Amino acid sequence: MEKQLIHREVVIIGSGPAGLTAAIYSGRANLNPLVIEGPQPGGQLMITTDVENYPGFAKGIMGPHLMHEFREQAARFGTEFLTAYVTHADLSERPFTLTTDEQVIRAETLIIASGASAKWLGIPGEAPAPHGLGGLGVSACATCDGFFFKGKPIVVVGGGDTAMEEATFLTRYASHVTLIHRRDHLRASKIMQEKAFKNPKIDFLWNTTVEEIIGNPKDGVTGARIRDVHSGEERIFPCEGVFIAIGHEPNTGVFKGQLEMDEVGYLRTNGRTMATNIPGVFACGDAQDSYYRQAVTAAGTGCMAAIDAERFLDNLPVEMPSGEEVTIEGEIVTADHQKIIMPDGEVISNKAEGESVIGD
Ligand code: NAP
Repeated sequence: MEKQLIHREVVIIGSGPAGLTAAIYSGRANLNPLVIEGPQPGGQLMITTDVENYPGFAKGIMGPHLMHEFREQAARFGTEFLTAYVTHADLSERPFTLTTDEQVIRAETLIIASGASAKWLGIPGEAPAPHGLGGLGVSACATCDGFFFKGKPIVVVGGGDTAMEEATFLTRYASHVTLIHRRDHLRASKIMQEKAFKNPKIDFLWNTTVEEIIGNPKDGVTGARIRDVHSGEERIFPCEGVFIAIGHEPNTGVFKGQLEMDEVGYLRTNGRTMATNIPGVFACGDAQDSYYRQAVTAAGTGCMAAIDAERFLDNLPVEMPSGEEVTIEGEIVTADHQKIIMPDGEVISNKAEGESVIGD
């Protein structure tokens, strides 16, 4: 089947707070952005309950409701949405080329707001069914799956804010929650720790790792093989659900080898702006930020990326009917692309050092 060809000034990958804020700003700049929504439209807030720290909502707001509002606002300013998964990206020349199952998308500028996804332990029993018990008692999203654990004893793995939040939320349904952490103290913020410590339905198992999730397709999860990190002793801990809450990793694999990223995969931007190492490609939100990772900071960097993309497009040379190109600063690139005439009349070569200029 021939793929549909799409060409846009601004293409945004991701529809969480960063991507949709970038869309609102570039939409209002009349750039008709295209937002490519991946497998989880709306991003991580779609699987969150109350958001109490997003400014402007004194009484808090539900995550999915907040994202609905973001999306409506982006649509109001002409954002177009495409539900697709980018399988390949070629950033070697502009326009950049993104490939999905059904489209080839050419982007004059690209804003990467692809976010981050839950990390897994990589242990036996964890994979999605039928290879493991994923979906049969193993989950990484309490908001999505908590309801299925009414009256059941469950385990949450991790020691950060996500683990505290998941454990606390799951006490609405579970008969009991055991939080298993590999160290003897938590990484989570004090307030989230306190909330979990105070909850009579939550117990903590310290210095313990989960080595395997046990069960079968008929009964689902029946237990976890756990290990004391000091003694090495192993035992089966009975439970009917295991929630993995050990953090997230950025969704940037498709750009490996093209864009600069840290060892985990977070995209590097130049510090003052959201520019990556490739001119015309910008990154924002959790795909770029391993430090703050908040909805409001993601939205802030989405705004910055959109302004950067707009300025980048404004500064590109504009082609005249004569074939000359004129930049916003008044520089003229000759029709044969050999020379640049500066605003003060100085003529300089448009070739890298060592290359010859025709006519010289
Ligand atoms: P995180 O802070 O990186 O914590 C991950 C936890 O999982 C750590 O306790 C870590 O153990 C443990 N862990 C990681 N890999 C593991 C493995 N292979 N086996 C066993 N344990 C493992 O991640 P997060 O909790 O997702 O939080 C990420 C960011 O989002 C933080 O900035 C957080 O404040 C924020 N957040 C905020 C809220 C909120 O305000 N409502 C909610 C969720 C997240 P160690 O401690 O031993 O490294």
